[in-house]
Amino acid sequence: MAKSTIEKVPLLALRGRVVFPDTAPSFDIGRLVSLNAVRYASDGDTYLFVVAQKDAEKEQIVPDDLYSVGVVCKLRQVTRLPGNTVRIFVEGLFRATAVRVEEVEGCMLADIERLETVHSDDRLEEAYFRTSKDMVHEICQTEARISKNAASELELCSDPDQLVNIAGHYLRISVEQKQTLLECSRLIERLKMLDTILNDELEIVRLERKINAMVRQNIDKNQKEYYLREQLKAIHTELGDDEDEKTELERKIKERHMPAEVEEKALKELSRMSKMQTSSPDYNVLRVYIDWLLDLPWAETTEDTKDLKDAVKVLNDDHYGLEKIKERITEYLAVLQLTGGMNAPILCFVGPPGVGKTSIASSIARALGRKFVRMSLGGVKDESEIRGHRKTYVGALPGRIIAGIKTAGTSNPVFLLDEIDKLSSDMRGDPASALLEVLDPAQNSTFRDRYLEVPYDLSKVLFITTANGLDTVPAPLLDRMEVIELNGYTQEEKREIAKRYLVDKRREANGVKKEQLTVTDDAIDEIINGYTLEAGVRNLERNIDAICRKAAVKLASGGVENITVNAGLVSEMLGARRYDRDNFIASDEVGAATGLAWTAVGGTTLTIEVSAMHGKGDILLTGKLGDVMKESARAAISYIRANSQTYGIDSSTFETTDIHIHVPEGATPKDGPSAGITMATAILSAFTGKPVKSSVAMTGEITLRGKVLPIGGLKEKALAAYRVGVKDVIIPADNKKDLEEIPENIREKLHFIPVTDVDAVFKSAIIGI
Ligand code: ADP
Repeated sequence: MAKSTIEKVPLLALRGRVVFPDTAPSFDIGRLVSLNAVRYASDGDTYLFVVAQKDAEKEQIVPDDLYSVGVVCKLRQVTRLPGNTVRIFVEGLFRATAVRVEEVEGCMLADIERLETVHSDDRLEEAYFRTSKDMVHEICQTEARISKNAASELELCSDPDQLVNIAGHYLRISVEQKQTLLECSRLIERLKMLDTILNDELEIVRLERKINAMVRQNIDKNQKEYYLREQLKAIHTELGDDEDEKTELERKIKERHMPAEVEEKALKELSRMSKMQTSSPDYNVLRVYIDWLLDLPWAETTEDTKDLKDAVKVLNDDHYGLEKIKERITEYLAVLQLTGGMNAPILCFVGPPGVGKTSIASSIARALGRKFVRMSLGGVKDESEIRGHRKTYVGALPGRIIAGIKTAGTSNPVFLLDEIDKLSSDMRGDPASALLEVLDPAQNSTFRDRYLEVPYDLSKVLFITTANGLDTVPAPLLDRMEVIELNGYTQEEKREIAKRYLVDKRREANGVKKEQLTVTDDAIDEIINGYTLEAGVRNLERNIDAICRKAAVKLASGGVENITVNAGLVSEMLGARRYDRDNFIASDEVGAATGLAWTAVGGTTLTIEVSAMHGKGDILLTGKLGDVMKESARAAISYIRANSQTYGIDSSTFETTDIHIHVPEGATPKDGPSAGITMATAILSAFTGKPVKSSVAMTGEITLRGKVLPIGGLKEKALAAYRVGVKDVIIPADNKKDLEEIPENIREKLHFIPVTDVDAVFKSAIIGI
């Protein structure tokens, strides 16, 4: 039978796709050769010969790049897309094979011959067709493998040849497989091929199903387990034998020897907790609460050192000097031993920073063999910081007292409340009153923290407090305490402390051995004079630390075995001097006098400047002076006015002169009556034009009648005068008794002038009065 050839059918080459008869696919085309073919077809009888490319990657094609068997399609629709592409919809009609392909004006044209399907054994074909349909049916049950459209088309198909075509179109098989399927003409072969493909597909489908089932089974198993566990828990709770957590906690609670009330509370909360879901937030709150009760030291105490001598030795070992304080502490420890701590007063160490308040307190703990905890009260505004938050608050915790006790791990630690003078209060309650309860022996055996809810016995705790000054300590608190004052150190004391303690301490902290670093006395003096201006030794220690650090670096980087730091090396290591000793009035001046003041950071000198100028009798006070200081300035002026004739001043002068009193440094607030005589001296000097001796410093309160009243803090003031190099110090006669507090070597170097009235001050201080 001669085959009829159809000539010059425009050829469309497809990449990675095979078109089958009985399908209606669409595809986007963009290659010029393809666009030309479509145009050629549109212009003619709209038939296209569609064939697959052997190599899908190839852009430029020649006839050899194409399979020879393809499908003749009817072009149904052409849609232009953005860019140079078009989408075409075709209908696959019949299979054909190209006998010749030529390229004419950029378009491939093929002469083709139709390929007919060859039937053989009808029954075998029917048998294959049926099994294939069954398999298709099963595959279609799994939506994921095949689209709904395809599934229904396949299910509805009643012709074996068609089935092969449609399946070939939809199944996920390779281009080569598709092409083989397309090329084969014998139906039975095609059906056999389809059978193999469907079998593979079915295998995959079954595997997928199995995997899915396994995953689901796993999830189901987890859910089942969870459910069973929950049930088990419920059964245990019902039977009262929750083995795990509850029993363990119950045992722990009973072992802790808590006071009966506390144990009862703990067990009650535990039973509430064990009825809750472990995942609920309330469960967690109770769990944390019970842990707190378990962690607090209820029965744990340390035994106090029996031998007082040992205790005293510890105090001496840790600190230089401070004889009076050590003596007082020894007495205190003796009483503590005899009374067992009942009603012992609470010690309050008062003094400038860095004089050893904190370290004495920790020494007391060491001397007694007790644990030491420290809590800074600086900036504590809120009562709940001391007493805690109710546990119903989110994230509630006990206050700092209970937290401190937990840290200590014993119920009788030495508990240092630092900076009690820095407590403040606001609308969130008064921390001072909460503290009062903590410190009051009548109440503190049943201290109630809001979080704990049960009382905690603080009566065995040894509380010690510290403050820089007492002015801001609430009076009821002050009432409960025994104040022990620590004064600033003299240069010599500082040097000794540095030599005996600080250098060793810092050297060790920085990992430097004794033989590797020596700091000479000169160097220490240089640090004290040039790099610190303080009553205590805190900055001294800091600077020594800096030196040790630098030395450690030098030693570590090799080259040197040991370092000796002398005065010269200090400036090399610490930079230029920060302070110079000549910050007091250098020469005798009119209208300027040196006063001595006591501040929270120790004694200091205070220059008072007065200027008298033409005006109408106004008084101007500047330099951040407090009320008391302003009043003593006015008292001084009034006294001089009242006695103007004695000093040769015309009384009318006061009406035509404005007085300006200024106390540098202007930004630091100053108060107190002890600058009275200094202001009077500077004012009189300004009015008389007679200079004040620069070698004199003074302190004393003035009355309207010119009497000089005693002042406080003489030791600190004397140290300050000594530090700046003053020779004569005018003091109130009533303060003579305090002179013995001043270290002997300093007392010898200063000339103290005790006075009872301000006239004597003027005579000693103003030249020519
Ligand atoms: P404060 O609590 O009064 O501000 P610190 O107790 O913190 O002072 O003391 C600062 C440092 O100075 C500490 O390292 C301390 O050991 C040391 N120090 C203070 N006074 C003495 C002293 N008399 N002997 C030995 N070291 C001292």
